[in-house]
Amino acid sequence: MTERATRQLEVTYAVLRGAHDHPTAGQIFERVRRQLPRISLGTIYRNLDKLQRRGLAHAIRSESGATRYDGVVEPHDHFVCERCETVVDLSAAPAARREDIRRAGHRVRWQTTLLYGSCAACANLREGT
Ligand SMILES: [Zn+2]
Repeated sequence: MTERATRQLEVTYAVLRGAHDHPTAGQIFERVRRQLPRISLGTIYRNLDKLQRRGLAHAIRSESGATRYDGVVEPHDHFVCERCETVVDLSAAPAARREDIRRAGHRVRWQTTLLYGSCAACANLREGT
């Protein structure tokens, strides 16, 4: 990898790791661009793929919107607001099924449970109207 490519990957990872809002690729692109104005969205996607292959990032493919990225790879679940698409971290549910899955011959790379509903702010808005 060239020095430039390494630097682009490092900045992409630093931005993702420092984000707590589970950004989309487009949001990561905007943030990385503040430091590396010449980076392209295609490079961001390639770097996100690399980070995932190295186990440094996960993609959250929610039913209600764009793929979101998470630089926190320790096991945890997610709550997705269907109205504003906020994604909130939750502690991981007990991984009771992992052993059954392993016994069936499957390999678990990562697990997350997605819970859907209205976040506190959106639920309050709805009650207020
Ligand atoms: Zn998360």
